Amino acid sequence: MSRIAYVNGQYEHHLTAAVHIEDRGYQFSDGVYEVIAIHRGKLIDMAGHMTRLTRSLDELEIAWPVSPRALDVIIREVIRRNRIRDGIVYMQITRGVAPRNHAFPPHHNSALVVTAKRFPPFDFDAANKGVGVITTPEIRWQRRDIKTVSLLGNCLAKEQAIRAGCYEAWFVEDDGNITEGTSSNAWIVSADGDLVTRDASNAILNGITRLSIMKVAREHGIEFTERAFSVDEAKMAREAFVSSTTSFVKPVLTIDGDPVGDGTVGPLSAKLLAFFGEHMKAQSA
Ligand code: PMP
Repeated sequence: MSRIAYVNGQYEHHLTAAVHIEDRGYQFSDGVYEVIAIHRGKLIDMAGHMTRLTRSLDELEIAWPVSPRALDVIIREVIRRNRIRDGIVYMQITRGVAPRNHAFPPHHNSALVVTAKRFPPFDFDAANKGVGVITTPEIRWQRRDIKTVSLLGNCLAKEQAIRAGCYEAWFVEDDGNITEGTSSNAWIVSADGDLVTRDASNAILNGITRLSIMKVAREHGIEFTERAFSVDEAKMAREAFVSSTTSFVKPVLTIDGDPVGDGTVGPLSAKLLAFFGEHMKAQSA
């Protein structure tokens, strides 16, 4: 079955779907995006993703290409046409096509692309495999809270991680503190047993999975702290993991090759992954 993509009002074959060469997303990465998980045919944390999309658009003064209600219909139609039961849906909104000029065009028609992709169904044992991360200098801009398609710094760091045989790279600011991963948020269980993740500010993308983990932690009486933590603290931690829409809760076993704790999947990481699995199931029942 060939994949179908939505591009500016049309459902097209994914292989040949295209946008104009003067789309500002292509020329300036002047656009935003969201990725939403589909579990057993249901969109996971849809409301949170839509709230963040609204915020990203507002921060950049990009107009909605269609109404939020129409976008919801398009998302579901792309999923239906691609017959996805488990996977992700991706949407990207740019400031659209305009003669190349850095300043915003006086009027713009935002461009909308929606695609969907099939993944294997969520499997706790498969997800509960540990990975390695590297640390790398934070070279990105100061508005990481906006989910923009401006991801070159993220791509460079992810490539560095892959070349090191690792899953993810954690960005480190000049003060030694970790911000987040290239496509995930960073968490540790400190040497004292505190569950810690960086506080939400312009320094990180406020992950929807991050927020859901906090919700399930609260529901299960697990305390956590939102604060900065350093590479040194992370290397002394009992456990570490990353969180994202596609990684869920992914245990981290090594940082720059050094084992975290005893170098095996930590009990709290496994517990939070299981709780997150339940959180997804509750939405897909
Ligand atoms: N930080 C960055 C830089 C990301 O790209 C992502 C994934 N989009 C995340 C964090 C995690 O966000 P979410 O849980 O919403 O997928």
